[in-house]
Amino acid sequence: MFLFRATNIIFFLLLSISTCTLAKGQTSRDAELKNIYNKSREEFYNNKKHDNNHQNSLKLCKLLLRKSSKSSELTTKTHLLLYKIYLKRKDYQKATAELDTAFQYWKSHDRFKDMAKTESYYGDIYFSQYDYKTAKKYYLKSIQSQTNIKNSSNLGYAYNALGNIEKELCNYKQALVFYKKALKSNSLNKNYRSICYSKNAIGEIYLAINKKDSAKIHFTTAKEIAKEHNYEKNIAYSTLQLAKTALQSNNSQKALKLYNEAEQQCKIINWQIGIARCYMGMGETFSHSSQYNKAINYIEKALKTFVKNNEKKSIANCYFNIGKILGSIRNIKLSRKNFIKSNRIYTEINDKKGMAKTFLSIGTTYYKEYKTDSVAKYYYKSLKLEQSIKNKKGIALCYNHIGLLKIHQKQYPEAYKLLQKSIRMGKEMDDISLIACATNNLAHYYSRTRNYTTAVKLLRKSIKYGRKIKNKKIILTGYKDLSYNYRKQRNYKRALAYHLQYSKLYGMTYKVEIENRIDWLQMLNAQEKFNTQLKLHQQEQKLQQQTIAAQKTKNLYLFIILTLSIFILLIVIILYVRDKKVNKQLLEENEKRRKAEKSLEEHQKSLVKTIEERTKELVVAKNKAEESDRLKTMFLSNVTHEIRTPMNAIVGFSKLLTLTKSPDKQAYYTKIINSNNNILLTLVNDILDIAMLESHQLKCTKKTMNIIPLLEELRDIHQNTVNETTDFIFDIPNDITEVFIFSDPVRVHQIITNLLRNAIKYTTKGHIKLGLETEKNKVIIYVEDTGIGIPKRNQKYIFDRFRRGDNNTPMHRGTGLGLSIAKNLIDILNAQIRFISNVDEGTTFFVEFERIEKTNDD
Ligand code: ADP
Repeated sequence: MFLFRATNIIFFLLLSISTCTLAKGQTSRDAELKNIYNKSREEFYNNKKHDNNHQNSLKLCKLLLRKSSKSSELTTKTHLLLYKIYLKRKDYQKATAELDTAFQYWKSHDRFKDMAKTESYYGDIYFSQYDYKTAKKYYLKSIQSQTNIKNSSNLGYAYNALGNIEKELCNYKQALVFYKKALKSNSLNKNYRSICYSKNAIGEIYLAINKKDSAKIHFTTAKEIAKEHNYEKNIAYSTLQLAKTALQSNNSQKALKLYNEAEQQCKIINWQIGIARCYMGMGETFSHSSQYNKAINYIEKALKTFVKNNEKKSIANCYFNIGKILGSIRNIKLSRKNFIKSNRIYTEINDKKGMAKTFLSIGTTYYKEYKTDSVAKYYYKSLKLEQSIKNKKGIALCYNHIGLLKIHQKQYPEAYKLLQKSIRMGKEMDDISLIACATNNLAHYYSRTRNYTTAVKLLRKSIKYGRKIKNKKIILTGYKDLSYNYRKQRNYKRALAYHLQYSKLYGMTYKVEIENRIDWLQMLNAQEKFNTQLKLHQQEQKLQQQTIAAQKTKNLYLFIILTLSIFILLIVIILYVRDKKVNKQLLEENEKRRKAEKSLEEHQKSLVKTIEERTKELVVAKNKAEESDRLKTMFLSNVTHEIRTPMNAIVGFSKLLTLTKSPDKQAYYTKIINSNNNILLTLVNDILDIAMLESHQLKCTKKTMNIIPLLEELRDIHQNTVNETTDFIFDIPNDITEVFIFSDPVRVHQIITNLLRNAIKYTTKGHIKLGLETEKNKVIIYVEDTGIGIPKRNQKYIFDRFRRGDNNTPMHRGTGLGLSIAKNLIDILNAQIRFISNVDEGTTFFVEFERIEKTNDD
């Protein structure tokens, strides 16, 4: 029980410790994520590292999303930041995807305020793609959502956006309404950055409708607020707008100064687009003061940045301005080319204002070439577009241009109507430049309709306007036309005076212009030269690149082929090695099998051999057994016969002995009985001996013995038993009396006896010799006879038990034991026996003993 409780306590302790550690880990991870988010935001908004594509910020956002396991407010904010990055990069698809993710999160967490704000962001995506209709839908939706939840914190943003749309569509009045609403909302929320934005926007509208003073006031206020709050970008923006205002007010010097100031500010915050806009403004200013060389330089500089940032509208504007400058220096064709380029881009982004502007300019280029049909076509195209977007200034400008065309086509009433309309509209918009131009054109109309007085009146008016806006061109045309009209009225004095004024101003104006033009032409020449060189260089480079690319492709192919070859070679080698290995294994296995088969064969052979040997042995054994059996049978019959014969003799002669009384006969019978007794005794002894030898019971008692007396004894026993025709020879010299051996005298006696008996038995004539040969260590006793001899075929087994020679006759009775006993005894006594024998010549047996010296101890 105690153990159980203790385990429980430990478990809970561990659990609480791990929970604590986890919680601690969680907080530290949250802090890390927040840190990443802040860094990413800082990178995006401040962009101190001049990272144009916001690469760093993007990387940090992605890192954060990778690190966070589930969606949270922080990840949603990261998605919103990513949306902003992608919007800047103009990757609208990704921007929309990020926004979708963020919106879903706000929606699932009932974050209505954030949802409304996100709706505005959707609007921004469409606005950036020039889809003002859809953009407007989202902005209005955002405003509606905010009204529904009674939250106005983001109203300013949406209203500003709506204002932007109306501005783009030239609905200046409506735009102004939205901007003012935005300003109001922003002021209520004390959102100063947005206040700046609204103020600038309002200023821009005033500038568009030619209310330069009002514009200036708003820009200045915006700049002041921005300065107060250190909104660097807003300061730069307001300065840029002020410069633009100065330019529109024909104050080139001031404009340049402000553009320079704006440029410096843009550079501080590395606002590339801002810098480009400054260059563009400077270009326009230089163009205004006929410094085309500089103008083109600046505009091209701006163009580069816009192209890099894919700012299409600004790119189109650059081409338009270049076209305008080229038109001023009468390079009509090139000028038209740039207008067409500009027009294409405006068409691409569906900027109707831009399209109308460029169509009018294209028309003017044709006007300069007197191609009236084309002029009319483009002028009306422009007018139609301007009317569709209700751009008053544009419409008025078109009327003015078409009016001039109508005069040219001698369609005076239409011309008059249009020019009048233009002047009226110009007055409505307070656009003096427009009024001046239109008035000049109207004067032209009167002059053509020979109403010189009205023409003069109007020309004076136009010169007045021209002076007001410091437009030398208008003044010059005015003087020239005045001179013409006075001439027509035959007022030559005035005509001359105005002509002189014209010439003077022309000289002053065009001297600079001509100089600039020469400069320009020189620059163009140099540029063309440079361009040709550049082109040549580029072509060379291209060629080089192509060669390198070809080489690279070749190398790549070579590499691939080489790799493939190596790969194939490797496979082949592997297969080969494997094959070889398998082959080797197979060979080895085969070899093993062959060896096994061989050993099996050998084994079989040896088995067969063994079987054969065994069979042979068995046959031999069988034969032996059979032989032994046969011999035993023969032995038995022999023994029976050998026993019966002496027994019969003994019994028969014993009976006869009792019957006769003759002493001779009795002696004779007794002799026969004794002889047969001996025969029987010898036989029994032999049988007993062989039985004892067989059972290894026969014991020998060895001792040092003199062989001579023993031989003499044997001579004495046997010399009388030989028949009459045989001689018994004792072949031992008389002087030899002692020859010693170490043996058993009884057995030696028995051996020699057996040999002598056989010699006597198998010899019928000749002699029997008992002899002795001595050597240093040897004693050889021999028994020689001249009997029947032993056939060669019998010689190898005459020492075997029961074996008898096959040349024996019935006279030669025996059991086949004599030689067998002798051999056995010789083996026991460590002596040797051998014989030589020839049939019908005789036999000699040699018995060899180790000779010893007699010692005193014996
Ligand atoms: P046995 O004489 O009783 O037949 P042995 O063992 O003494 O048996 O002799 C074996 C055989 O050797 C004899 O049967 C005989 O044929 C032969 N043999 C032995 N000694 C002589 C000999 N001196 N001369 C001829 N044959 C002999």
